[in-house]
Amino acid sequence: MSLKGKTAVVTGSTSGIGLGIAHALAQDGANVVLNGLGTEKDNEKAIAEVKKHTTRIAFDPANMLRHNQIAEMIAKAERDFGSVDILVNNAGIQHVAPVEEFPIEQWDSIIAINLTSAFHTTRAAVPGMKKRKWGRIINICSAHSLRASPFKSAYVSAKHGLAGFTKTVALELAEHGVTANAISPGFVWTPLVEKQIPDLAKSENITLEQAKKQVLSRQPTNQFVTVEQVAALAAFLASEAAASITGANYSIDGGWTAQ
Ligand code: NAD
Repeated sequence: MSLKGKTAVVTGSTSGIGLGIAHALAQDGANVVLNGLGTEKDNEKAIAEVKKHTTRIAFDPANMLRHNQIAEMIAKAERDFGSVDILVNNAGIQHVAPVEEFPIEQWDSIIAINLTSAFHTTRAAVPGMKKRKWGRIINICSAHSLRASPFKSAYVSAKHGLAGFTKTVALELAEHGVTANAISPGFVWTPLVEKQIPDLAKSENITLEQAKKQVLSRQPTNQFVTVEQVAALAAFLASEAAASITGANYSIDGGWTAQ
């Protein structure tokens, strides 16, 4: 599957799933713009890893909370690489707390990073995609775009919103050679999941080991989904073979949402 000559912007790609997707797209020949808010060391490590592939890469530190920085990231990628052909809206954060105790700033940040930033990137990237009659928008949703869990009110709201946004954009762009699809992973062992285990243990008054077990019990396979599995699906959706797939929401969750 060659993506040679295409340029991908992957938000939140200095860690976890985004970094895996950046790898997979670079392996298939795409130029990649990495983005994230990690430490300088994290960012340098991510850049060095993805650079191993024979592609042009760049790093943009745009904060997904700032619409001006998001618009500039897309404009700069278009200036430097000539186009943004593949947009992966992956940046995301999580916070776990009962709704009546949910910190207002955490609610606002989760909605802004996990949902609204995808509107800003899409809004900026779509004119170029339409002009070139080719584009791939891939939104990293979650099993929580289809199911709810207690204590995750902001995350579940943002992911349901992102799934709806994906379908709307797919309809608007269907005749322009641009597809928009969602990927909804179950639990993938990344820093985002690792960090929420202590919060869950605290909210439910259980041990860390019990919290981890509780998380995995949602997935009939009893296994975490891997970053590489999610990345391979994203690379397929970016490929020519997926040209007729649009408006879909792919579950990759070990059977969680089949229940
Ligand atoms: P992660 O914590 O490993 O990575 C998150 C990335 O987002 C990092 O690169 C981080 O720097 C970046 N980021 C955070 N805030 C940002 C901001 N304001 N501006 C720019 N970048 C920012 O998380 P992950 O598990 O790889 O999650 C990636 C996506 O996958 C998220 O949208 C998450 O909701 C989704 N997801 C994860 C899982 C899972 O189990 N890990 C399951 C379903 C969906």
